[in-house]
Amino acid sequence: MGSLPLPESAINGADADVFRPLDPDDVRTYLHKAVDFVADYLQSVESLPVLPSVEPGYLRRLLNPSPPTSSAPFDVAMKELRDSVLPGTTHWASPNFFAFFPATNSAAAIAGDLVASAMNTVGFTWQSAPAATELESLALDWLAHLLCLPPPFMSDGATGGGGVILGTTSEAMLVTLVAARDAALRRHGGAAGLQRLTVYASDQTHSAFFKVCRLAGIDTANVRAIPTSAATSYALDAAALHRRMEEDAGAGLVPTYVCATVGTTSTNAVDPVGAIADIATIFNAWVHIDAAYAGAACICPEFRHHLAGVERADSISMSPHKWLLTCLDCTCLWVRDTGRLTDSLETKPEYLRNDVTDSGDVTDIKDMQVGVGHRFRGLKLWMVMRTYGAAKLQQHIRSDVAMAKMFEDGVRADARFEFVVPRNFALVCFRIRVCGDMTEEDADEASRELMGRLNGTGKVFVAHTVVGGRFVLRFAVGSTLQEERHVRGAWELIRKMTGEILHGRQP
Ligand SMILES: *Cc1c(COP(=O)(O)O)cnc(C)c1O
Repeated sequence: MGSLPLPESAINGADADVFRPLDPDDVRTYLHKAVDFVADYLQSVESLPVLPSVEPGYLRRLLNPSPPTSSAPFDVAMKELRDSVLPGTTHWASPNFFAFFPATNSAAAIAGDLVASAMNTVGFTWQSAPAATELESLALDWLAHLLCLPPPFMSDGATGGGGVILGTTSEAMLVTLVAARDAALRRHGGAAGLQRLTVYASDQTHSAFFKVCRLAGIDTANVRAIPTSAATSYALDAAALHRRMEEDAGAGLVPTYVCATVGTTSTNAVDPVGAIADIATIFNAWVHIDAAYAGAACICPEFRHHLAGVERADSISMSPHKWLLTCLDCTCLWVRDTGRLTDSLETKPEYLRNDVTDSGDVTDIKDMQVGVGHRFRGLKLWMVMRTYGAAKLQQHIRSDVAMAKMFEDGVRADARFEFVVPRNFALVCFRIRVCGDMTEEDADEASRELMGRLNGTGKVFVAHTVVGGRFVLRFAVGSTLQEERHVRGAWELIRKMTGEILHGRQP
């Protein structure tokens, strides 16, 4: 790949055969083109259909089936990107995107990610990337301050706390569950005790948790999904958790880990963190808080109460790539005692040995994650906080919540709809309510048809969930380019299509 040794032709000035993939002039030209593409894309994305109308396999029919043997001007790839890839894209950046949770983004984050990609540090040890390791740790401390996390979660304290920026919440759950598993096994008779370990979450907990339990070797029969109900707005019932843990402990099992969610994916339910931590303490079980989406709101004092009790948790994760203007991937994990992670995940191969690691003055990132190599994710997160500051980030959260409230007010004023849970953040869960001689199943079907018709227009993208057996539309406000007019436009479309579906039936 390199440019040495120089062939005769290059020395003679005819260097067409020399391959310089990082030629600074090419980097400048290609990136200028890419940056222009990005700015134009973001300027025009509003007018593109949010969901593409393509069939599986569409792209294979448009692009070369076999890899090119010879080189082509960069413009060829850019043209194929425009002509073939773009039309098959679901536009998460569109202001008309209301599905799932938004993937928010910002100029500062994109710039940070670009520079990180260019520097391409592989930060497995402090030595392999001192600035990347330290900037990540600083960015985590900054965000911990914004979230008012207690000092034990910060690496600037003297307590051994700190964190790491991972790719996904699943990884945050996996590394903490493995640490909790190993600690429990050390207390309870070694590896042979694995079948006695039990773990707990609500039945609303993200499927990632149940996958992670399989990865960590927890017996499926020992994974407790505590049932929730409308009575707690689908939050984990602490008393039910307590009963289940007691029952298990009484049967000689070892309660090991509880995953509490602040802002469930389905409906944004908030589990009672403090009560859960109090119960877990009785059994010496690890408490992890999954605040993937709603954690971002907790930088605003008026939402911080949702994390009350976090000072008694062992770990917490949240993903700025969801609601804190930082592009994928960026999941922040804080743990009260990084030593508990490294006890399980530390490796000491000779080829990574160095004096700084040996000194014990640093925690190497490879010892807090699954992989060895580590992207420089701290740069984009630091750039977001450095550039926008806490006040602007809070303003961003508040304006999304205000738009969601505006949408919620519209739904409340229209008798054809009902809510299934109260709104906690910027997600509104609603459905068509039973009217006339309709059954609940008819209302489910009407709501499903509404979603299908809406998404078929290309003008909006909304997603759904099923709660308490009922089909529910999830309207997630907060795509970064979104303004009030987009939310109003979507609401008008919803009203109009509901009228068509109900054929003038009156509630
Ligand atoms: C999105 C989400 C997840 C899944 O996160 P990944 O990063 O994709 O693993 C987990 N929990 C909650 C509450 C989420 O909203």
